[in-house]
Amino acid sequence: MNDLQKKDLRFIWHPCSQMKDYEDFPPIIIERARGAYLFDTDGKSYLDAVSSWWVNLFGHANERINRALRDQAERAEHVIFANFSHEPAIDLAEEIVRLAPEGLSKVFFADNGSAAVEAALKMSFHYHQQTGRTRRTKFAAITDAYHGETLGALSVGDLDLYSRIYKPLLLDTLKAPGPDCYRCPFGKTRDACDAPCFDALERLVADHARELCAVIIEPLVQCAAGMKIYPPVYLKKLRGLCSAHGIHLIADEIAVGFGRTGKMFACEHAQVSPDMMCLSKGLTAGYLPMSLVVTTDEIYSAFYADYTELKAFLHSHSYTGNALACAVARETLAIFRDEAVLEKNAAKAAYLSARTCELFNGHPYVGEYRQTGMIGALELVADRATKEPFDWKKRVGYGIYRIALEEGVLLRPLGNVIYFMPPYVVGEKDIDSMVETALSATNRYFGLSPK
Ligand code: PMP
Repeated sequence: MNDLQKKDLRFIWHPCSQMKDYEDFPPIIIERARGAYLFDTDGKSYLDAVSSWWVNLFGHANERINRALRDQAERAEHVIFANFSHEPAIDLAEEIVRLAPEGLSKVFFADNGSAAVEAALKMSFHYHQQTGRTRRTKFAAITDAYHGETLGALSVGDLDLYSRIYKPLLLDTLKAPGPDCYRCPFGKTRDACDAPCFDALERLVADHARELCAVIIEPLVQCAAGMKIYPPVYLKKLRGLCSAHGIHLIADEIAVGFGRTGKMFACEHAQVSPDMMCLSKGLTAGYLPMSLVVTTDEIYSAFYADYTELKAFLHSHSYTGNALACAVARETLAIFRDEAVLEKNAAKAAYLSARTCELFNGHPYVGEYRQTGMIGALELVADRATKEPFDWKKRVGYGIYRIALEEGVLLRPLGNVIYFMPPYVVGEKDIDSMVETALSATNRYFGLSPK
């Protein structure tokens, strides 16, 4: 362990970590980062195959974004956002509304993904209170959902790993079994399916319609659950169901927005417009924390009244509408416009799919390879015939993670799922090394021959 690592462990409590693991696997100290690569203090490089927790879009130290950030820092770094505003925020909001699914016309700012989810839940509840539906106090979600880790966000999530201990503190949320395409209980395949699994959510919502404010969902991919991909028809049905019962549909596009699934927003695959869309992560291309809740005029209008009616939405964060983050986000959207990003990504996604299928074809421990756009995931199983998962206590993914790091690729498996979610600046060579390293690290872990 070098001095910086020792000092790190003396003072820092890292996220999403059992700190004891660091005893024999100390933090990697990054000195600089460029494009899709991170460089540690020994000069070793790591291909950032997970976009640093799904945030980075156009590479580290991107020149265009650096310039936008520097320019804004010279003008104004941050100003109070109540009664004050600035051009980067205004331009950004205008462009977001232009890009967002139809009907989403008002932009509310927050400062991280969980905060956007909290704001959306409060906004939905508050809307119903102010429009005479005061018995609506609950939310519904699906199993394996993940919406962040503050208490409200944890309440609508369903991953025990993050929420179990906090259950006594959480909101009483309704959960229906969600889609599980790899282990489909209906024997369907993703591409030829009318989502019979939707019936469970339909029944739950119908039974509790008068108590419900909103259904919240991650469109198309339940990322934290292990990149569980489900077909757009499920979302389409959900939109119909929510509309039929006057319940809001909250689309949590925090992870899947900004092109990850091949379209700007995942909702577009199902051609649906949610009532609220939460955005973060790629919004600032991996530079600064910021999030948005984009919503409709109808919802906005329920809060619009004379001051003395006390109808305002008073949710606020100190760093709301941070000017540096807005300037970076504005530049991020300009890059999408100027550089035909989604079109170029389509070719990269096809290459990623072809290479992964070629290399992992018939692998004894790969149950499924699934991909949508620039998100690809290999589900490792103990038995391919029965789809039996590995015991979580074996920490298979973690073992592979450590070997892949040694080999210079930052993969960060979710349980037994190895996934690729690289920044969009990767080229074919980078994709080759990402997939080849995933294979060799997996094989080394299992004691198979490396290739
Ligand atoms: N929703 C989804 C779908 C996410 O993937 C995440 C983060 N992984 C969040 C919400 C929470 O975002 P943050 O970590 O910025 O609070």
